[in-house]
Amino acid sequence: PATIFYDNDADLSHLKGKVVAIIGYGSQGHAQAQNLRDSGVNVIIGQRPGGPNYDLAIKHGFKPMSAADATKQADVVNILLPDELQGDVYRQEIKPNLKPGAILMCSHGFNLHFGQVEPPAGVDTLLVAPKGPGHLVRSEFEKGGGVPCLIAVGPGAKPETTKIGLAYAKGIGGTRGGVIQTTIAEETETDLFGEQVVLCGGVSELVKAGFQTLVEAGYQPEMAYFECMHELKLIVDLLYQGGLSYMRYSISNTAEYGDYTRGPRIVTDETRKEMKKILKEIQSGQFAREWILENKAGAPGFKATRRQEKASQLEDVGRRLRKLMTWINAKEV
Ligand code: NDP
Ligand code: MG
Ligand code: MG
Repeated sequence: PATIFYDNDADLSHLKGKVVAIIGYGSQGHAQAQNLRDSGVNVIIGQRPGGPNYDLAIKHGFKPMSAADATKQADVVNILLPDELQGDVYRQEIKPNLKPGAILMCSHGFNLHFGQVEPPAGVDTLLVAPKGPGHLVRSEFEKGGGVPCLIAVGPGAKPETTKIGLAYAKGIGGTRGGVIQTTIAEETETDLFGEQVVLCGGVSELVKAGFQTLVEAGYQPEMAYFECMHELKLIVDLLYQGGLSYMRYSISNTAEYGDYTRGPRIVTDETRKEMKKILKEIQSGQFAREWILENKAGAPGFKATRRQEKASQLEDVGRRLRKLMTWINAKEV
């Protein structure tokens, strides 16, 4: 079984006297910075001016500075910028200003694993990755809990770096939920696989295909929306609480029989073969290269797809219906 660390395995004193720079006051940055500060850690913020996140950092009582200036002062530098921008900011502002012996941190291993952030000699790399979005990292901590995290160190890291990583995880509340030991390769590859195949890519296409099938067969789009998208939440809540068994215990026997007999006709051998192919593209760096190049070109395909997907009938119907469900806290982007 995996090694999992809890509160008693971590000692905040390993961060005593150290300065932690959080680079980027976004989703993860604002949460991790505030949790660490509440845990007594000396935190400074590297955040570019001109946007709402800069103002937010000030509102929260920090004095944001440039990534370069924050790096110069820091013993631990955590890069919490969007993954596709980290390489450029690292090369221009962070790498030239790293103190000797500083620790370079991240919450997702993409850039370390695929060579976009290359630490200089003597700089250890450390990953502490919360398994949840930033607002939860903050709100769970405030409630006295914590979002579970992953921890990994780069090749050749000193034993002290792991202790600092555990102290960091404790400081953001992670050891309250459990901190699983992994490697940067495992974190990066499984994270990409999960989001591409199941959580984001898989779910989105499944919902779209189900919705379109019903609408094309002449059923009302509103019915198709409720059946194929809205009700998904009820199922996911059951999975979250009690796995497949509890979900199947809670649904009707008819639904359970349909699950066993029809599900395998949707995720077929062909689908599994494609999953393996997608995993290979992740492992070989083919996906990373594609995504990095897409960004270097200004992300034209990415932006066009985003626009098209937003304008779909599924999204139109959903927007309209969600507005009428005042209790669901509907969001629009
Ligand atoms: P966000 O997009 O929420 O925040 C990004 C921050 O970077 C903002 O403060 C933004 O400032 C700043 N920024 C953006 N572009 C630049 C630039 N060119 N130069 C300087 N600063 C810039 O990021 P996330 O918190 O979502 O992600 C951070 C890291 O955490 C990533 O590695 C991600 O994979 C990881 N992670 C994220 C999770 C999540 O749920 N969000 C979960 C687990 C890990 P501005 O406001 O000025 O644009
Ligand atoms: Mg991810
Ligand atoms: Mg039903």
